[in-house]
Parts: sequence; structure tokens; C-alpha cells
Amino acid sequence: MTASGVRVRIAPSPTGEPHVGTAYIALFNYLFALKHGGEFILRIEDTDATRSTPEFEQKVLDALKWTGLKWSEGPDVGGPYGPYRQSDRKHIYGEYVEKIVAAGHGFRCFCTPERLEEMRAGQRAAGKQPKYDGRCLNLSAQEVTTRMAAGEPSVVRMKIPTEGACKFHDGVYGDVEIPWDSVDMQVLLKADGMPTYHMANVVDDYLMKITHVARGEEWLASVPKHILIYQYLGLEPPVFMHLSLMRNADKSKLSKRKNPTSISYYSALGYLPEALMNFLGLFFIQIAEGEEMMTMDELAQKFDPDNLSKAGAIFDVQKLDWLNGRWLREKLSPEEFIARVFEWASENARLTEGLKLAQSRIGKLGELPPLTGFLLASDVGLTPASFGGIKAPAAETLEVLEIVQTDLEKILEWNVETIEAELRAIAERTGKKLKVITAPLFVAMSGSSRSLPLFDSMALLGRSVVRQRLKVAAQVVKTIAAA
Ligand code: GLU
Repeated sequence: MTASGVRVRIAPSPTGEPHVGTAYIALFNYLFALKHGGEFILRIEDTDATRSTPEFEQKVLDALKWTGLKWSEGPDVGGPYGPYRQSDRKHIYGEYVEKIVAAGHGFRCFCTPERLEEMRAGQRAAGKQPKYDGRCLNLSAQEVTTRMAAGEPSVVRMKIPTEGACKFHDGVYGDVEIPWDSVDMQVLLKADGMPTYHMANVVDDYLMKITHVARGEEWLASVPKHILIYQYLGLEPPVFMHLSLMRNADKSKLSKRKNPTSISYYSALGYLPEALMNFLGLFFIQIAEGEEMMTMDELAQKFDPDNLSKAGAIFDVQKLDWLNGRWLREKLSPEEFIARVFEWASENARLTEGLKLAQSRIGKLGELPPLTGFLLASDVGLTPASFGGIKAPAAETLEVLEIVQTDLEKILEWNVETIEAELRAIAERTGKKLKVITAPLFVAMSGSSRSLPLFDSMALLGRSVVRQRLKVAAQVVKTIAAA
């Protein structure tokens, strides 16, 4: 335990490409720990077994390591309060759920998913916010025992006060009041025996001695449930701080449909982690006139968690570009610069694997840059002319690009085989020849119709770069279709 006793955490769920928002929250917690001489820890929240994958967990770890932030406890480094992956802690939560039920604060619910869906549909139709109607709230102990003994599936829900409001203090929002009647009787334990996010999150924050919970504002509405769980267990809640989400320039929520949001996208394009952290860290300090290029130490000195804005942090890519350019030009010696370039080009083996694919396709080494350059380029310079060799009408190409954009999102593990299978499935489903699907993709990925094998190229580029290239391609083809 550190002198201050301050312990903060980043608790990502490995259900997708690690988001820059995760780096933003992680950085806040990291700077907070630095400021207070506390500990910053990493916990993997994978209670959603259907959406969490080992590939994404690895990516979360890789992405956070890339940012340069260091955690003193986590699934990869261990620590005194481990394990730090919730799926490895399954055996821990039951006792806490039982305690809540035994004290009369929780109840078994036997409602089927179909019944719940019907109930919600009815509530929506009546213009009401869908929430559990309490059907199983007052089942007798006898009935619960009989139904459980008969093997009927059930979950545990928490009881919610029927009147009044939950009042709490948030480090960013100040005094908050949320009426209890807007809070759902949250499921704490799922039918498969796994805790929900809410239950596991509270138990783990308690067991890991977390003192301050700093996370995205989307969790503010969950605080009443969390406070109640702490109360039901007779525990003291931590201090809460809900940080405003990052937004696009038009103030909409930062989403991958508008801007690339994956950390891996920014690393693939050759942003320096120092520049990205510098950019994100500026949201946590009061900037008067003066230098905005700052190292982590400088950010830590100016870090001001007491004066955060609720307005939303605008993810201004131009500012990031400006800072990154300055970092590249001003902060690296020529030797460091060269070392960084090699490091970047070899990331995820894209250069070595790309060269292997290129070997059988060249007559001179000098042909390599045009053939493989797209694997490293930040932009392949698509214009309407790039699609000149595509025989299908532009409207059809656009349709193909849009279907591919949607369907690739469904791939859980991103590799040559899964990409090929998904594209073949699209061809089959749409009754189109595979070539009609792949031809525009060659152009979208590489800017040229003469390139490396498509599925391999897409695997090497990675999901987030592929996503962005498809988006740009669709924009360009739209202009052809509209002409
Ligand atoms: N697993 C949650 C997330 O990924 C963590 C929220 C929290 O920090 O409590 O957003």
C-alpha cells in the first residue's frame, strides 16, 4: 500500500478494438495515481462471455502497453489482489450475491427472456421506459425453493427503493440526484451463474481496495445501483468521477462511423504514443497561453482533476496531427526517429509478412515500394479514377462496399481465414461472383488493382485500418455513382 492509499483502475471490457476513449480514461487514472503517489491497476472485465474474446483482451493489453502507461497490478503482471481478469474470479462473486439475497435486498427471478421481451415491448408501446415490472419480487421462499429444485433457470435481481432519489457526489458532476423510480431492478447474477458487470465491478473495486472510480460519463446513471450494492453489502463506496465522453467536432459521440476510434488505427498510421497521450492529457489540465507540447511528466505536473469540464472533449484530429508532427520533428533525435520508424513498420509483422507475399511478384527490389507501400501508408490516395478498372456499375460497387463494411464488423477473430470466409459468405448471400466483391476491395485497400493477395492484405492492415479504407472508398464511389 502506498502512503496515500489512493488506488485507481482502468477496467476495460475486451469486446472490441481498444478505443481511444479507453486510453483517455486510462490516462486520467494514471495521472491521478501519479499526482497522489497512488497505484494504477488494470482489470479485465469480461463478464460478458458472448462478446469478450482472448483476441480482444490481447489487443487491450497491447494497446495500453503501446500508450506507455504502466500499471503496477494487472492480469499480465499479477499483484496482491488478483486474479485481475473477472472470468478467473467467478468463484468470488456468489458469496456476495447470497449475502444480498439473505438480507432481503435481492430476489430470484424466473421470468423467461421471452416474457421480459414482451413486457418491455408493452412498456415501450405505452411510451414508458422499459424496466423490470417486479413480477417475481414477492415469490414465497417455498415457491423459490421448489422452482429452483425443479431446475427452472433463474437470475438474481436487486431490489430498488420505491420512492425518493439516490443522492451522491460526483467529482465532475457535483451533487447528483437520480430518482429511484428511474432505476431498474438490476440483474446481479445471470442464469449461468456469472455476475453481471454491476455486481462484479462493485465487488472487485471493493476487494481491490479501489479508492476512486474515474470512468466515462456513460456510467453515471449506473451509480445508484452501485451505491445500493455497496450499502446492501455494508461497504463504503469509493469516490466517483465521471469524465465527459470524447466527441466529434460536431459534438456527437465519438464513434467509429465518423472518426477512427481504435488505438490500433493511430499506432498503425504512425502517431507517436507520446503525441496521442499529450493530446488526450490536454483535456485534464487548464491551458492558458503557452506550450501545449508536453511530456507525461509535464502533464502530471499540470494535471488538474478538480476542474474538469462536463462539456465533452473534442477529438480534433487536426490538433492531434499538429502535435504529432511537432513530436516527430522536435522531440526525437535522428537516431531515435529512425528507430521509431523501424519499430512502427514492423508492428504486427506487417512489413515482414508483406515482403513474403511480395517476393514472388517482383523482378527488382525497386518494385517493392509501389507494391507493398499500401501496408504502411496512412492513405492510399483514392480518386474516382482508382476505380476505373472496375466493371460493375458504381451503384453496385457502392452496395458491395457497404455490405462488406457492415459484415466485417461481425468477425470475432480477425485473420486471413475469417476474412475470406466472410467475403465468400457475402458473395453467396448476395448471389454475386466473388470477384465482384473482391475487385473493389483490392482498390479500396491498396489504391491499385495490382496488389498483394487481398485477404492477407486485409489481415495485415488490421480491422481499424480496413474499416477506414472502406469508408473512404465508399465516399469516393458515391461521388462516381452520383455523377
Ligand atoms: N468495463 C467497463 C467499461 O469497459 C468499466 C466501467 C468502469 O470503469 O466501471 O467501460
